[in-house]
Amino acid sequence: LTEVQQLVLSLSNRLIHAPHASFATTQKECLQEVANRLGANHALWLVPTDDNDGFCIHADWREGEWGPTSVEPLLAQVPQRLEREELLFFYSQAEMGRSLTADELHLFASQPVGACAMALLRSDDEDYGILFVGKPLGRGEWPTEDRALMAMAAQMLLHSVRHQHQVEHILATQEALRALNQQLEALSMHDALTGLANRRHFDLVKIDEFQRALRNRQPLSVLVCDIDRFKEYNDLYGHSQGDNCLRSVAWAMDSSIVRSGDTLARIGGEEFAVLLPGTGEAAARQVAERIREAVFALDLEHEGADARRVTVSIGVAQMRFGKTPNFDALFDAADQALYRAKQGGRNRVEGQVFS
Ligand code: GH3
Ligand code: MG
Ligand code: MG
Repeated sequence: LTEVQQLVLSLSNRLIHAPHASFATTQKECLQEVANRLGANHALWLVPTDDNDGFCIHADWREGEWGPTSVEPLLAQVPQRLEREELLFFYSQAEMGRSLTADELHLFASQPVGACAMALLRSDDEDYGILFVGKPLGRGEWPTEDRALMAMAAQMLLHSVRHQHQVEHILATQEALRALNQQLEALSMHDALTGLANRRHFDLVKIDEFQRALRNRQPLSVLVCDIDRFKEYNDLYGHSQGDNCLRSVAWAMDSSIVRSGDTLARIGGEEFAVLLPGTGEAAARQVAERIREAVFALDLEHEGADARRVTVSIGVAQMRFGKTPNFDALFDAADQALYRAKQGGRNRVEGQVFS
């Protein structure tokens, strides 16, 4: 038996170490080696279909004159036949004739099969497959050694399918986790109400952009936008209408931003900020003007505002090399400009004033 055991051991090792992508090929090679050792001319490995409705071919190896007639219909009956035994051996066609129905026997009659063996790959009441091995005419014997090899091969293949299922399950779980992480990542960077980037996102981008501007000696501008008299809007129209207003304003702002490198974020209740890399103050003012006009053009009624509709005030600031020490200083300058826009009557854009 040692030779047989060694063969199974080496095949098991190959299956264990096979990369997932070539698992099916390795399984088929192992099946073929077992068949060769048994002196068989046909080996067939069926596995349950995805809907568990029957069996389909997982690996099929045949040699010589095995014709196209298929034995799968016969094999589909194997689970019932093997309810008690794990293995079933037929020593000759004549013996098959005693066990099989006339229809089943007919499937074999046209084949050059002298003897065959079947094994049900079952574990924990679950069917993982069926193994069929056919020997050619004139080789009708199943010596002890062959019976042992058949039994060990069945066990080995059973474990390899279970292993394969587990690996597939792990890979699917990993994939699901990856997708979930991506979703969480997106959620953590976005404002749920408006869908715009949130403050967290803005805080990450602002540092990068400030450093990049310094490094490349490229201008960098920032806009701070605030909805005018928004507290009163809530008081007049209700909080949920206030939320709708925020969504509409966010949409209008977003539509006004055309360059893909620009970042628009909702950084507070009714406060928004825009980062404009590679943009000087004059161009930044134009973007701000476009935003202001787009919100004005929404024509959302606001009885409490001077313009009788929803408007925004915007402060603009440009980074100055050697004078703006960090991003916060740039943001403060824009915030001061915003304050002047509010003081100056709202619904307007203001820039920096240098002393
Ligand atoms: P100003 O023109 O000077 O900016 O006046 P304002 O009323 O807009 O400014 P203030 O900061 O006093 O009020 C901001 C209001 O925005 C107060 C708060 O109730 C409202 N707000 C903040 N976040 C939300 C939100 O998520 N949904 C709604 N509906 N309202 C919000
Ligand atoms: Mg505000
Ligand atoms: Mg406001």
